Amino acid sequence: MAIAFIDLQTQRARLGQPLEDAILKVVRSGAYVMGPEIAAFEKALGEFGRAPFVLSCGSGTEALILPLMAWGIGPGDAVFCPSFTFAATAEVMPLVGASPVFVDVLPDTYNMDPAHLDAAIEAVKAKGELTPKAVIAVDLFGQPADYPAISAVAKKHGLKLISDSAQGFGCTLNGEHPLHWADVATTSFFPAKPLGCYGDGGAVLCKDERLHDLLVSLRVHGQAVKSDIEGRTFDHDPKYLNMRIGMNSRMDTIQAAVLLQKLTIFADEIAARNRVADRYAEGLKGAVKTPKVIDGGVSVWAQYTIETDDRDGLIAALRAKEIPSAVYYPIPIHRQGVYSGYPQGPGGLPVTDAKAEVVMSLPMHPYLEADVQDQIIAAIRAHVGKNA
Ligand SMILES: *Cc1c(COP(=O)(O)O)cnc(C)c1O
Repeated sequence: MAIAFIDLQTQRARLGQPLEDAILKVVRSGAYVMGPEIAAFEKALGEFGRAPFVLSCGSGTEALILPLMAWGIGPGDAVFCPSFTFAATAEVMPLVGASPVFVDVLPDTYNMDPAHLDAAIEAVKAKGELTPKAVIAVDLFGQPADYPAISAVAKKHGLKLISDSAQGFGCTLNGEHPLHWADVATTSFFPAKPLGCYGDGGAVLCKDERLHDLLVSLRVHGQAVKSDIEGRTFDHDPKYLNMRIGMNSRMDTIQAAVLLQKLTIFADEIAARNRVADRYAEGLKGAVKTPKVIDGGVSVWAQYTIETDDRDGLIAALRAKEIPSAVYYPIPIHRQGVYSGYPQGPGGLPVTDAKAEVVMSLPMHPYLEADVQDQIIAAIRAHVGKNA
């Protein structure tokens, strides 16, 4: 059997009939949009991620747009984010009319460099063209960013902090989820993410009821919500009052039904991913640079990313043995045409530029069997040994 880069079929088989029954139940119920599984899933996700308020939405991208809209971030505003990430992290700023400002990453974790963030904010303030409003930190490859340091910088400058945890939902730092430090944590349920559904979906987690209420409104065309209606009387159904410009970002009921099933095994899967990561680290010691997780951090291992100076050679050697691999991310966002005009922190992004040349990711999922993993490790060691 071919080696999978991410194996969703073994998970589907494990979840078995209850998963298929849950989907069929929604199909038969007719409650395709905002059915009861949506509220049940939001509650369950909040319990898992220790978030008082959870909003399910259409995608991980929309989960980032919604809080920016809620805070009124737009033209003339700056939002700081890494460039070494998936495009969606930076795409949402131009979508609301604001400007991304790119910040470099730390060489060992690939996550936002708090000192460079501080320098980037100071530089934007000194220039006076944009108003700093928010920071989006990314839990790249599944591990938490340095939230104690990043949130201290954000607080110092009076900026909102979003944790883009599309790859990292379930990760912790010193036992706390990113939301402990951030105003908002977002995630994606794209199928290949650690917690994925069978299509598109996302969520916004927060601690502030007023913000959550606003997000509920924005998710469905700016509809009137609790805080809009309280203390007022209407001579028509306030459901059709549109209080603000919103959008349609509802998650399908079927996806909530799938996620309710997947959430029951998610903690076990995170443990399995960590066992796979530990075996890689042990087996690849001395052959390639293996990942480092921040002290006190637990990664959910969306990717297992190694570094090698002979990336093309290693990818080809693995491909010859039918072992899949991938490069995240070969072209950092600040070097892509449509994003190249946006500002960068002082001195540019030398770590991001260097890492983009040497990183590559290996098959990683909770169901990677030891003998298959041994084949992958042996293939890497054989290639590196040949070139030594
Ligand atoms: C996948 C991803 C997103 C976007 O999620 P979608 O559900 O695909 O819209 C945002 N940020 C990061 C870091 C991601 O990996």
